[in-house]
Amino acid sequence: MAQWGPCGAADPADTGMKSILPTVLLCLAASAAFAGEGDGRPLRVATLGTVLAEIAREVGGQRVEVTNLVRAGVDPHTFNPSPSDIRTLLDADVVLASGLRLEGYLDRLVASIGPSGRVLAVGDALPVVLSLPRAGTAAEEDPHWWHSIDNMVFAVEVVRAEFARARPTSADVFGSNALAYRNRLIALKAWAAGEIATLPAARRHLVTSHDAFGYFAHDYGFTIHAIDGLSTDSEADAGHLAELIDLIRREKIRAVFAESSANPRLIANLVGETGAQLGGTLYADGLGPAGSGAETYDAMYRHNVLAIVGALSGP
Ligand SMILES: [Zn+2]
Repeated sequence: MAQWGPCGAADPADTGMKSILPTVLLCLAASAAFAGEGDGRPLRVATLGTVLAEIAREVGGQRVEVTNLVRAGVDPHTFNPSPSDIRTLLDADVVLASGLRLEGYLDRLVASIGPSGRVLAVGDALPVVLSLPRAGTAAEEDPHWWHSIDNMVFAVEVVRAEFARARPTSADVFGSNALAYRNRLIALKAWAAGEIATLPAARRHLVTSHDAFGYFAHDYGFTIHAIDGLSTDSEADAGHLAELIDLIRREKIRAVFAESSANPRLIANLVGETGAQLGGTLYADGLGPAGSGAETYDAMYRHNVLAIVGALSGP
């Protein structure tokens, strides 16, 4: 019973009842044999975001069972776990959070789960964390770390190490899964850099709803002009909007961008006031929902790059 995965994957449509029963019994026997060791069942991982869920599934493969609580399209800045979410978190062997204060409730969560629960704030372990100065307040750390592929590569390593700690007997599998995923991320970065290289430096202005693309801007030489701050629940003021309108006209910025989880009204105002195009909708706070074409990190990232380069280039 080196491979545990097929036990959970038995599909009545494929196998027919006759062949399921022995599988179930075999799994029960294996479960008893491994009882106490914790290695006879998949590692239970709860994630607080779609990107984290993808990392967990890619690194863990069949050795993990991932439950993602902050689903696609749900605003992670305003999400709060329900009582049933808390139960899922209590049952998990490992909880993956974004960290960098994206989850305002994380300290309370860690306190309620208790010291034995493993909550890993992935963003807090990354080497490159950007902070953005705020007028009148101290600089804030930017929690949208996954828009840098270098950070993603590091996050994969952080998750791999945590899974290997929790399940040493699966460490080799986690290692080879992580390597394969890392190679795909590196190929994605090469592709993105090639696309963005076609855009002259003077065109690299990103006007978006909230300040989510700092890491993207840092990697590819863009300047960010966001309507709101780092969180989607802050309010834009009229003076700041007037400055943005001036800037778009002065720099002849061709397009501004809506975001999948932000109110599109203010961006629509900018379009109306300046004649800039609406450059499309960017995925700022996570992956897209089923059917969006941005359900994976690779697809989400390609969507954003193509939308940005497409809208800002041209005569
Ligand atoms: Zn955000």
